[in-house]
Amino acid sequence: MRHIAIIGSGPAGYYTAEAAQKLWGEDVQVDIFDMLPVPYGLIRTGVAPDHQSIKAVYRRYETTSLSGNVRFVGNVMIGNDISVAELQELYDAVVLATGAPHDKPVGMPGEDLGNVFGSAAFVGWYNGHPNFAELNPDLSGRNAVVIGNGNVALDVARILAKTRTEYAGSDIVAHALDSLEEAKTAKITVLGRRGPHQIAMTPKELGELGHLARTSPRVDPADLPELGEDMLLEPGQRKSVTHLRNFAAIPEGDRAAKAIDLEFDFFAAPRAILGEGKVTGVEVERTRLEQGRAVGTGETYVVPADLVVICIGYQTSPIAGVPFEESAGRFANLDGRILPGLYCVGWARRGPSGTIGTNKPDGFGIVERIAEDIGGGARKAGGAGFDALAAERELQVVSFTDWKKIEEAENARAREDSPREKFVRVDEMIGAVKG
Ligand code: NAP
Repeated sequence: MRHIAIIGSGPAGYYTAEAAQKLWGEDVQVDIFDMLPVPYGLIRTGVAPDHQSIKAVYRRYETTSLSGNVRFVGNVMIGNDISVAELQELYDAVVLATGAPHDKPVGMPGEDLGNVFGSAAFVGWYNGHPNFAELNPDLSGRNAVVIGNGNVALDVARILAKTRTEYAGSDIVAHALDSLEEAKTAKITVLGRRGPHQIAMTPKELGELGHLARTSPRVDPADLPELGEDMLLEPGQRKSVTHLRNFAAIPEGDRAAKAIDLEFDFFAAPRAILGEGKVTGVEVERTRLEQGRAVGTGETYVVPADLVVICIGYQTSPIAGVPFEESAGRFANLDGRILPGLYCVGWARRGPSGTIGTNKPDGFGIVERIAEDIGGGARKAGGAGFDALAAERELQVVSFTDWKKIEEAENARAREDSPREKFVRVDEMIGAVKG
């Protein structure tokens, strides 16, 4: 028997558990820890609420959880309730699958002004993450600015752009839906420090902007490279750029019928966030590309802003005693190995890139390395040892069966057109377990 602890119940954690089951069958016991009483990490609180088909992958993780040798151990904060060193005493391998839940620091003057948010907080707010349920962004202003040209910037811009009716079928939480319905947004500016060929937005998601009820996307034709240059792009990127070309070609008359103008401002590097107490604008420097890099031209201007969401990428949270690579925002590791018996996987290993599916080979790879390192295993106390310690410390551990009660309660209170209404506070979740 091998005993494996996985910290984090998102995609990387669950694919690692699945790989351990495939390799060792019944000769492994896996405990998947999460600080929240609810599983699935990024799938629950990161993936956009109007992208339910992507979220459906949780069913695969559920199958893993329902097999006999994988346990969900929720509501346990590593580093607070139990240390990594203590877990290493109990398990043959400890795998950090903690994702990248924090924003990369932007280091810009004014970033602390009111109504300026990082994407982790803003996405967490509309997705019901308990840490951000009280964010209360003020959406009463006309001008929203989204910084970044990645898929998260795209998610945030689309969420601001949709009508209540367009949220049918989504699981956006009620507090966000109500605020968005009351919002007075008329202009969403998406700032990209480079050009249309350098966006990090996938075509399917970008194409959605062309079909919104009250919002029209806008691209300045002058920002687009010569059409022939698109042939140099890989096919997915070429499709994305084709969407931008289509947006540039929308007639002004068609735009006039839409209440919200969603403008892609390319070659636009944010330099400072302006305002007193609360944001009023973003100072931007025009850029040009030099060998693929954005270089400032010295020309600056101000984009009016009542709300700013900074979507420039994420980083992993450091854990005391675990080597961390600051510059890359992930644990210092060699192919997932951090220290003897301590591993990392997914975004915690390689930084926040790739799709959910990228975590599958990652999980299978780390299990192969663990197998090389621990061989026959069978040396440690595993879950029984953890249970004894949890009882001694009076931890309120949430099991997978408990989670199913939370899920049932969330499904039961769903709006008519929604699969679930998430609990957004930990005490509500625990309350649902107790019934
Ligand atoms: P990302 O893909 O790394 O994009 C970050 C964006 O921020 C880039 O456009 C980058 O520009 C820009 N940026 C970075 N530093 C900046 C600065 N100081 N000033 C201005 N702009 C700056 O990160 P993400 O959007 O957070 O996405 C993270 C991962 O999740 C990605 O792999 C993404 O594809 C994935 N994701 C996928 C989906 C989906 O498939 N539906 C949805 C959400 C997220 P440069 O290129 O110039 O550096």
